[in-house]
Amino acid sequence: MNRWTDRLLDLLYPPRCAFCRRLVRDGRMICPDCEKHLPFASESGEIQQFPHLALCASPLYYTGDVKRSLQRYKFHGAAAYCRIYGELMSDCLGRHNPEVDCVTWVPLSRRRLRRRGYDQARLLAEEVSRRRGLECRHLLVKHRHNRAQSGAGGPEERRRNVRGVYRAAADVTGLRVLLVDDIVTTGATLSEAAETLLAAGAKEVFGLTLARNEKS
Ligand SMILES: [Zn+2]
Repeated sequence: MNRWTDRLLDLLYPPRCAFCRRLVRDGRMICPDCEKHLPFASESGEIQQFPHLALCASPLYYTGDVKRSLQRYKFHGAAAYCRIYGELMSDCLGRHNPEVDCVTWVPLSRRRLRRRGYDQARLLAEEVSRRRGLECRHLLVKHRHNRAQSGAGGPEERRRNVRGVYRAAADVTGLRVLLVDDIVTTGATLSEAAETLLAAGAKEVFGLTLARNEKS
């Protein structure tokens, strides 16, 4: 697109902060206020341990404007937010810097992908890999449709709900994989996806999400 079309689009749809929706000027999709005051995790709070993952990093807590923003991203078509989310995730990854060979994502089932039109975790994985100069690879498929984890109840039910829903879609032998998703709560989904990769021969799996549940 030429600059004239860009300017016209900006007039029609002025760029807004992905979190508080105020107008922004520099096209970065985060306003100076949110950059300071979003519920960022501390450097140690960014890291969590879950079964089958070497570590899991997340820059933000899933609350307030972060929660509302992610809901627009997942359910109301705000796919363009992947740019600022990917920037925050990539910076977070840089602070902990695990050695990885490639990036992949926790996939949606085909049924949910058809309904939504885009795979929100895949867009994040592509953005993070582009920023870190890593290859983004399609390593997992979700071959069974299950209930959304948010409706699955307690930790035990969540584990049962995701059991066996993924399978490896490529040769992962010896790979150190960065596994990307939008949110981690109990860790059941990421653990299951990581276990699938390890069972298929991956060497190590690291998790990276935009947001994590609040400290309990
Ligand atoms: Zn803002």
